[in-house]
Amino acid sequence: MQALSIKNLSKTYANGNQALKGIDLSVEEGDFYALLGPNGAGKTTAIGIISSLVNKTGGEVEIFGHNIDTDLEAAKACLGIVPQEINLNLWETVGNTVTNQAGYYGIGGKLAKERVEKYLRALRLWDRRNDAARSLSGGMKRRLMIARALVHEPKLLILDEPTAGVDIEIRRSMWDYLREINEAGTTIILTTHYLEEAESLCRDIAIIDEGRIIEDARMSEILRRLHREVFVLSLKNELHEAPLLNGFETRLRDDGELEVEKGPNSEMNDLFAQLQDKGIHVASLRNKVNRLEEMFMKLVEGKEAPA
Ligand code: ADP
Repeated sequence: MQALSIKNLSKTYANGNQALKGIDLSVEEGDFYALLGPNGAGKTTAIGIISSLVNKTGGEVEIFGHNIDTDLEAAKACLGIVPQEINLNLWETVGNTVTNQAGYYGIGGKLAKERVEKYLRALRLWDRRNDAARSLSGGMKRRLMIARALVHEPKLLILDEPTAGVDIEIRRSMWDYLREINEAGTTIILTTHYLEEAESLCRDIAIIDEGRIIEDARMSEILRRLHREVFVLSLKNELHEAPLLNGFETRLRDDGELEVEKGPNSEMNDLFAQLQDKGIHVASLRNKVNRLEEMFMKLVEGKEAPA
């Protein structure tokens, strides 16, 4: 079952800003999925559309098979959202914040009480249940938003930059809790611009930049590709096929240059020794631009460093 299926989703804001340029995403039930991208990439817009707070310009969104255009209530019942901005009623008590949300989903009486206690305890806010939300620290407010998003026990939980501005200790404990509920069956999607966060938590990852998905793969595959270097060698001899080299992958390009892929454990000296043995002479060498690496540089540039 697909927890989330997005097809050709686009959004152009009234000012002409094209925030999403036709994205496709597919998230399997049970997955822990990261939507990673720099500021302005379109992550919040995508989440706004999924949670029906933002009108899409085109495309389709289905949550557990429920189309948000034709079956919105059923789609919403499957979904819990933790937005990026703190959007709590700060004068409401912690307990009532979660109880009211339960009521919004038609959960009342004993069940509501049980759920409120369960999630406030899980997010270590039970002792603060009678305090106004405004008295909580930033990290606690974020945890309260998670408790609020979970009280109707959604099958899909989406968190928009859940740990932005949260200190390292709270970040780690939030990660542990998210892992726990994912293992218990909740599908989780989070947006982040911290690679470390995506790396630590997520099995699958999509990278979004300027309104387009530029990568969509297993986290392990992305990391493997990130640590792979490709060199382009200009040769003095003309080759008709790529040479077989131990520990390196090779490809002969149409322009006669040789691409050599180097893993993290192999050495350039070894590459040159093998080429020498085969009588292949290298005139010059350059690094092939690694698109993923560029992407990650962009993610890191000008961003606050993870705490
Ligand atoms: P992210 O969450 O990845 O930082 P956003 O979805 O917030 O990205 O923004 C994507 C693009 O859409 C940005 O260029 C942003 O300036 C623009 N944008 C976001 N909200 C609005 C809006 N209400 N009106 C016009 N442009 C917007």
